[in-house]
Amino acid sequence: MKKDQLVTRRTLLTGIAALGAAGAGGALVLGPGDGAVSPPAPLPAPGPPQRSPLKPSAYRLQPLTGYGAPRATPRRPPVRSEPILRMTGRGRTLLLTFDDGPHPEYTPEILDTLAKYKVHATFFVCGEMADYNRDLLTRMADEGHTVGNHTWSHPLLTKLSRRRIRSEMERTSEVVEQAYGEAPRWFRAPYGAWNRAAFQLGAELGMEPLAWSVDTLDWTTPGTGTIVDRVEEGAAPGVVVLSHDAGGNRSQSVRALRRYLPELLDSGYHLTVPRRRLI
Ligand SMILES: [Zn+2]
Repeated sequence: MKKDQLVTRRTLLTGIAALGAAGAGGALVLGPGDGAVSPPAPLPAPGPPQRSPLKPSAYRLQPLTGYGAPRATPRRPPVRSEPILRMTGRGRTLLLTFDDGPHPEYTPEILDTLAKYKVHATFFVCGEMADYNRDLLTRMADEGHTVGNHTWSHPLLTKLSRRRIRSEMERTSEVVEQAYGEAPRWFRAPYGAWNRAAFQLGAELGMEPLAWSVDTLDWTTPGTGTIVDRVEEGAAPGVVVLSHDAGGNRSQSVRALRRYLPELLDSGYHLTVPRRRLI
């Protein structure tokens, strides 16, 4: 099974490289800061059957009840041509991000560790995972974490029509708004494969595109120690660290966090969540 997943990933990576080389459809594939094609992140674990999508208008036109007055629509950000890779700001500030969840086994353990050290992180969730683990999004809200949009089903956006991309993003924002209590303000393309439509639609939905600058490659299950080393060697002011809390066995990612988090704090790092003023 693992082998099959790897084969799938290699196939996808080849596809991404081919797209990048051909410049097809204005595809913009950005890696972790050096222009290299980034290794694809894992596909989310197969979940229960998807529910029918709500009408597209539902997300825009029906403010949730139960949270008091309808919230103002988030300020619409500019349409970018590349994603944000790091945050600016003074001091040893670092962001931890976890993609592809939430997962009922691994995400609570990550949340427990973050709570133990009173640290906030960002979770780029897939709608199909979030839909069946809404309690975890509620917990993220209660504990002060940020939730971003990682599409509904983790597709390669550069292969989708604009209409499909919109649906992937809109449905996910809708679930996040319902379970987390606020629409996501950050978006991350699966596999780091961005294109013009993703940037435009993300901005329309009030989201900024956030990539990463340190990739733990934890989805390859390289060993807990290797994940710890990659985080600690990559740590620098403004860095955005990519890990995963779903899409396969993430016990190494869970254990690694327990080791590198106290060490980063001892080194004087301030772990934070993305804020637009820090871009
Ligand atoms: Zn992903």
